[in-house]
Formats: sequence, structure tokens, C-alpha cells
Amino acid sequence: MVYDDQNIFAKIIRGQIPCEKLFENEYVLAFMDIMPQVDGHCLVVPKRTSTGLLDADPDVFSPLFAAVQRLGKATQSAFDADGVTIMQFNGAAAGQTVFHLHVHVMPRHSGVPLKTHSGTMEDIEIIKKNADLIRKALAMQEG
Ligand code: 5GP
Repeated sequence: MVYDDQNIFAKIIRGQIPCEKLFENEYVLAFMDIMPQVDGHCLVVPKRTSTGLLDADPDVFSPLFAAVQRLGKATQSAFDADGVTIMQFNGAAAGQTVFHLHVHVMPRHSGVPLKTHSGTMEDIEIIKKNADLIRKALAMQEG
């Protein structure tokens, strides 16, 4: 599959469309998912382009998964979660809807199921409130 640089995450990385940013470094950008499957559902994308994991340069995995781990800990702490689901899809048949490599990070509570994937757009005020909780937890990690 050919990478399309007009995909939504490429536009977010270039700053052409807004996102609720959690953190950013030279290699990755982390931001809130606009159709969260749980409160605190967020995404990490590498800045280097690939449609998914299978066509990615393995060099991206180290900074990508370092960021996933950091965000996993921050979301677990921010939401007092019992666990954290990490998800990643490759190809439409596997459930992928945006064709720029990304990893989902979702804090989980026992007995609370995930909502539908790419289901319902969340109220922006709720997304901002949840992002604030995660940013505070990230700041505590650095503290
Ligand atoms: P995929 O199905 O490709 O693994 O996941 C794409 C994710 O991106 C979905 O969870 C969906 O809710 C989210 N998403 C789709 N469009 C946008 C957008 O414009 N902004 C943000 N922040 N998330 C998006």
C-alpha cells in the first residue's frame, strides 16, 4: 500500500489540523483520540511516515514504544486504571481506518468494556478535561 501524505494524522503532524496534544518530541506526537473507546483513549504516532507497522522502518519502534510506555503509565495513573490496553491495526481488514502508523493507548477498568472502534465523536470539553488529567500525570512522571 502506498503512503498517502494527505491522511488525517499526517495533517495533524504537520499542524494543518488541530489535535489535543499530550506530548511531542523529535520522533513522535501523542494526542487524544476524538472517538474514544474509553475515557483517556489516546494515540501515539511516529513522525516518520509508513502506512502501518509492517512497512515501517524498525528504527521508529524504539522511540514509538518508549512513548507508548510513558503514555501507558500516565493514563494508568491519571484514571486510576486497573490495566492499559495497547492496540495497533494493519490494513482495513484488520480494522485500520487511518493509514499512518499509530498505537492506541487505553486505560481500562475491570468490567468496563470498550466502546465501538471509530464509533462516536466525543464532546471536545470532555476530551480536553481528560487530556489535562493525562498532561498532569506526565508532568508528575517528569517531576
Ligand atoms: P485505526 O482504526 O486506524 O486504528 O484508528 C484510527 C483512530 O483515529 C480511531 O480511534 C479514530 O477515532 C481516530 N481518529 C480518526 N480521525 C481523527 C481525527 O481527526 N483526530 C483524532 N484526534 N483522532 C482521529
